[in-house]
Amino acid sequence: MTCIFCKIAQKEIPSDFLYESEKVVAFNDLTPQAPVHVLVIPKAHFENAGELSEAEPLVLAELFTAAKKIAQERGLDGYRTTFNTGASAGQSVFHAHLHLLGGRPFAWPPG
Ligand code: 5GP
Ligand code: ZN
Repeated sequence: MTCIFCKIAQKEIPSDFLYESEKVVAFNDLTPQAPVHVLVIPKAHFENAGELSEAEPLVLAELFTAAKKIAQERGLDGYRTTFNTGASAGQSVFHAHLHLLGGRPFAWPPG
C-alpha cells in the first residue's frame, strides 16, 4: 500500500492529529499555503471528494464539521475549504482531502 494519506491515517507515519474520530483525521499540511493549513481526510481510501460523496456522504459531511471545529479552535473569523479533484485542478495526492486554509486574506477568483 503506497498511499501516503492512508499511511498517515493508519498511524504508520507518526503525525500530530488536530482532530480524530472513528472515520476522520486532520493534520497540518506539510507545505502550508497560509498560517493555518490543515488537511481533513477520511481514514478509508477514496480517490477524491466525488467518490467519497457517493460512498460515504456522512463522512464527507464530517470533514466539514471537523474543519469548522478546527477553525473555531484556531480563532479564525473566516476560512476557505477546498477540494482539488483531478490533476488539472491541482490534485497531487489521490486520497480525498479537504484543505482548510485560514489566517490571511484570500483572493477570488482563485488561481
Ligand atoms: P492536493 O494538491 O492533492 O490538493 O493537496 C495535497 C496536499 O498534501 C498538498 O498541500 C501537500 O503539501 C500535502 N502533502 C503531500 N504530502 C504530504 C505529507 O506527507 N504530509 C503532509 N502533512 N502533507 C502532505
Ligand atoms: Zn489512501
